Amino acid sequence: PGLFDANVVKRDFPILEERVHGRRLVWLDNAATTQKPQAVIDRLAYYYEHENSNVHRAAHALAARATDAYEAARDKVRRFLNAPSPKNIIFVRGATEGINLVAQSWGRRNIAAGDEIVITWLEHHANIVPWQQLCAEKGARLRVAPVNDRGEVILEEYERLLGPKTRLVSFTQVSNALGTITPAREMVDMAHRYGARVHVDGAQAVSHMPVDVQQLGCEFYTFSGHKIFAPTGIGVVYGSTDELEIMPPWQGGGNMIADVTFEKTTYGPPPSRFEAGTGNIADAVGLGAALDYVSSLGLVNIQRYEHELRLYAEERLARVPGLRMIGTSPEKAGVLSFVLDGLRTEDVGGLLDQEGIAVRSGHHCAQPILRRFGVESTVRASLAPYNTYEDIDALVAALLRLQAGRSSRGI
Ligand code: PMP
Repeated sequence: PGLFDANVVKRDFPILEERVHGRRLVWLDNAATTQKPQAVIDRLAYYYEHENSNVHRAAHALAARATDAYEAARDKVRRFLNAPSPKNIIFVRGATEGINLVAQSWGRRNIAAGDEIVITWLEHHANIVPWQQLCAEKGARLRVAPVNDRGEVILEEYERLLGPKTRLVSFTQVSNALGTITPAREMVDMAHRYGARVHVDGAQAVSHMPVDVQQLGCEFYTFSGHKIFAPTGIGVVYGSTDELEIMPPWQGGGNMIADVTFEKTTYGPPPSRFEAGTGNIADAVGLGAALDYVSSLGLVNIQRYEHELRLYAEERLARVPGLRMIGTSPEKAGVLSFVLDGLRTEDVGGLLDQEGIAVRSGHHCAQPILRRFGVESTVRASLAPYNTYEDIDALVAALLRLQAGRSSRGI
């Protein structure tokens, strides 16, 4: 409803005309990865047809074009996150690599034996394992803020974990497994009151809501391009100037140096200090085009539309017999995670696929939070602005048929 027409948005995405198993594709696996609009596909082709070169090094026309395109993309990311300067934007492979960069570069310098790092039960494995590894290396302690039965971080419990030993807090802005939106600004402020630095995992947030890193106040923010209509293999770390200036490099090589002799190397300033080797130039340019595309739809419009669509989906899914929604916070974005009585999630996923409906069934790389709800796996339908009310109807009708077939077979 309103000004936002998902059917028009859908036409921007050629893959959504694909047929699978003879059926129209219904893509509801957006939390895993999003589809790409024609504008991004065209931008990649244009780059390779007209601009392709390595950046920064050579003094020829194509190097200048490639460098301009790459740095323009960095500035689009800066604007998208409202970072103060493009120097705050580091290109990486994705959120996973970004979190590992923060853990290894910032963490190695700032974490010592006895220090504490605080995460939450909602985290994706990418925001658990790098901190576990760092803690093991340093003799530091990882502490985990619990969630309530709706899948919301219990703020009082979170605050009880904060103290003089807390060096870093790292939490997700939106849970990939449940969809819960965390009260990020409040959690950042609380961490700062204890002198901790904060990393926010934005992998599931950036495509669903406007993000302003200065307003959030976090020191680090990471996301993956492929979850916001950009290619795979490109992602972003935002770092505050104060932190980046004093952080050591995490990988060594070309591009990241000021001067190299066999005795000593001096490093370049941020962001180049953190971008050793040839970067993923084309896909960074593609990310810039994806952010332009998202801005043309408007994140506030996307947020409003997806909110209505999610409420509709929740209301319809509640009519499916034996369906239990996992994660029932009113503050959710983009994700409907559920189990069906007496059916294995893999089987539900497989049967939906036969009807052309792509959802994810599994643990969503977030085993601890699913186990918190007593399950090893869920069926997850996740939304994007090209999903229509008809897509939800198709999902619900298929689930109803599945349950009807099951009861008629007497299982
Ligand atoms: N954090 C969250 C919340 C995620 O959903 C994901 C991807 N599922 C990641 C981190 C890791 O992103 P990537 O696999 O693109 O590196």
